[in-house]
Formats: sequence, C-alpha cells, structure tokens
Amino acid sequence: MGRYRCGKIVSTIGPASSSHEKLEELFLKGVDVFRLNFSHGVHDWHAQVYEAIRAIGKKYNRNPTVLADLQGPKLRIGTFENDKIILDEGDTFRFDLDKTPGNTRRVNLPHPEILEALHIGTTLLLDDGKLRFEVTDCRKDYVDTKVLVGGPLSNRKGVNIPQVRLNIPVLTEKDLKDLQFALDLGIDWIACSFVQTVEDIENAKRIVNGRAGVITKLEKPLAVQAMEPIIEASDAVMIARGDLGVEMEQEELPTIQRRIINTCHRMGRPVIVATQMLESMVLSPNPTRAEISDIATAVYSGADATMLSAESASGQYPFEAVSIMSKTIAHVEADPYCQSKLEEDTQLPQRTTIDAISAAAKEAAEYSCATAIVMFSDNFESIVRCARLRPQIPVVLVTSSIKVANKSGLCYGVYAVHENIFENKEFDTSVMSKAAKDIAKERKFAKVGDNIVVLNDLKGHSVEICQL
Ligand code: PGA
Ligand code: MN
Repeated sequence: MGRYRCGKIVSTIGPASSSHEKLEELFLKGVDVFRLNFSHGVHDWHAQVYEAIRAIGKKYNRNPTVLADLQGPKLRIGTFENDKIILDEGDTFRFDLDKTPGNTRRVNLPHPEILEALHIGTTLLLDDGKLRFEVTDCRKDYVDTKVLVGGPLSNRKGVNIPQVRLNIPVLTEKDLKDLQFALDLGIDWIACSFVQTVEDIENAKRIVNGRAGVITKLEKPLAVQAMEPIIEASDAVMIARGDLGVEMEQEELPTIQRRIINTCHRMGRPVIVATQMLESMVLSPNPTRAEISDIATAVYSGADATMLSAESASGQYPFEAVSIMSKTIAHVEADPYCQSKLEEDTQLPQRTTIDAISAAAKEAAEYSCATAIVMFSDNFESIVRCARLRPQIPVVLVTSSIKVANKSGLCYGVYAVHENIFENKEFDTSVMSKAAKDIAKERKFAKVGDNIVVLNDLKGHSVEICQL
C-alpha cells in the first residue's frame, strides 16, 4: 500500500540533518513536513535546505511540505563581564536598560516595554525556567528582584514572563525580514511564536496575505486561556510544549494539550504536538517507554501531526527518531479502538456542502470497504474539512494547484498528487473516475478488484464508488 499512516511527522532541520543526502534520508524515513527554524541559521542556509527539499520532492514525484518557524519576540538578557555568574537564593539582582556587560548585581534586559509591564510580585523565569526571580521594585529603567531559585546564568539566556500581557508585536523586525524571505522562497506554512492575542494572529495573516498558511504556536498561558478565538483566527496550531512548560505548571500540560486538540478538531484546524516527544533520542538510539507513550497519546487524541525538534535538528539519531515515530503512529492507528477513541463530538459534520459530501464519502468508503478516498479539489479549506472527519483510509488528494498540494502535507491522512487532469479538457465525471482509478493504482492505494471512493469538489459536488 502507498500509505501506512495518517498522522503526519514534522521534522526540524538543523546541522544534523541539513545536507541533501540527510534530507533525502529523512524524507524516505517518513517526514511529511520539514521545519526551518528561523531562530537559527542564516538566509543562505535556509535557501539551500529549501531548494534541496523541493528537489527531493521532484525526484520522488511527491509534495513535501515546508514550514518556516519565526523566532518571535523571544526575550533575552544581555551579556556578562565574565560570560557567566552564579546566583544564590535570596540574592538581590537588577535587570536594567544599561547595555554594558553585567555582573553578579545586574544585567541588561534590552526591552523597555517589558520593564514597563512588570510590577511588584511579578515572576521572571530565566534559562528555560531554571532560575526564578520576584520583582521587588520597579523603576523606569530598571527592576530590582529577589532570587527565588538561583544557579548559573550566562550570556543571552532567554527570559519568560508568564501571566503578564506584554506590549510587544508578535512579529519583530527580524521576523518581518525572515517572513518576507521565507515567502519569497515559497514555503507553505509560517509559524508565529509567542502569540498573545487574536490581533497578533490577524495581523500576521494580513501580512502573509494568503501566500502561506499561518500557524499559531500556543506557548503563552494567556493565549491558552483565550484559545477559542485565537484558534478560530489561525489556519493551524502548534502546541509548543517547550515554552508552555516553562510558563505553566507542568502538571497542567496534558489536560491543556487535550483541550487544544479537541478545540482544533472541532473547528477544523490542523494541530501539531511539539517538543520533547523523543527527547532522549538526541543522545540515544532508543527512546524511553514514556516517550513512545507520549506519541501514542497524541495520536489517540486526534492530533494531525507530531513534531521532532532537537531530535532531528541536532541529535545523534535523526533517522532513527523519524522511524520510531512513524512506526509508533502506524501501530496506534491500526488499533481498532483508535478511531472510536477520537472524541466523537469534535468531529461531527457541520452544515456545509463540503462536510456533507465528505461525510458521505467517508460513509461510502466504510460500507464499500474502499481502500482510499480520491478527492479532486483545488480548495485547501475543503481538504481540511474532509480531513477533520478523520476517514479511516487515506485521502488521495488530486489537485492542479502546486501550492495546495505542498500545503496539504500537514493534514491528517492527506496524500497529495499534483496533477491537472482537465488540462485542455472539458470537465467530465467519467474522465475523473478513470483518473482516480489510475492514480490510486499507480500510487499503490488500490489494486484490481478494490473499491475506491471518488470525491468531486471541482465542479459541483459528488461522491462515487468505483471498482478497479
Ligand atoms: P520553539 O517552539 O522550539 O521554537 O521554542 C516550540 C516550543 O516552545 O515548544
Ligand atoms: Mn517556543
């Protein structure tokens, strides 16, 4: 069969995986979406990786998806005279606007608008939450803090300020440049980091202007609390458990993950579960049992995709990580309880034409024991609506739009074929059924004697069962 799993794999590219050969190997091991992380790497490097991915797609006549992840307003302190200090619990420490290197009493926090938003009692988290500070005094150009949890602190470490709405745009100067560059390359999805409000994502969408899908990374507690309108305004969502785990109590993560997935599912937004899924594989060829179970949980609860970060970007075993993720997803999906476990009420069809024919196609496929739904569509929204109903067999999408084909790699169960079957031809349903059968056979989604379901979303709407 041409497809052995519906859940998708997003893989972050970095030094461990950026050569042409390594990208090809990742693709062959099962990566569906390649993530370019604009927190690292220069434009030339990203361009090279991008071109290699497209060349690999061409070689295998497939449509790998490319996602550009923007750094966003990630807050960082300045540097220290001796690169590093050690702080103890109870120490007093100042964050200020003075750009000179810091010492054991102070360091630069080069964001005046952040200092403004702080008040007495606010918690500052440094270096992924390893160090904690409580604000004891606020002035125009500095804040004084008491060290709650000490430890070593070095140059340019990240700062998280949970529970405070920061008056900073979601796209920084750097992001705007990276965004323009990524759109010019032709990437399919843009991910926005540290989204705080609906306006943030609406603003990003205005700038992107339909040239790519826009993903909200949910990694701020305030955004999670207001998730419904934010998800509604987004084209897709990433559950960014890394920063979320710093800014919230860790024990809250599993329930939040489930809530975000359900909400995305109900609204029909593809959702990615990200960060530390196979963290131990950065250094070890074998994952822990808990990590395998984490992937399974994401699949059982209906995520569209699971993501690898350091595992594939800088780890020692990128290919093994993809293989293990791929096998785990496939195995869970083969469990007859998997489908029934998907929260039923989140996937009920709604009153739209595309929901109606997608539901009909799903049902027709089920009762005719079809091996695939071959969907003809140039409309990305239709594809998302169909995938949302979670048909239990692959949706082979035949589209004349290269952009739609490339973008759909993020969607559950969708396998794209870029082909314009009506080029220089009148629309004709019998031509469509024949093309569907040929494509299903050629791509090994069906063999002679099998049924397939043809879903027409090109001209009018129809569903047909065809036997090969
Ligand atoms: P990052 O986002 O890897 O860009 O920080 C994901 C996360 O925070 O989990
Ligand atoms: Mn993050």
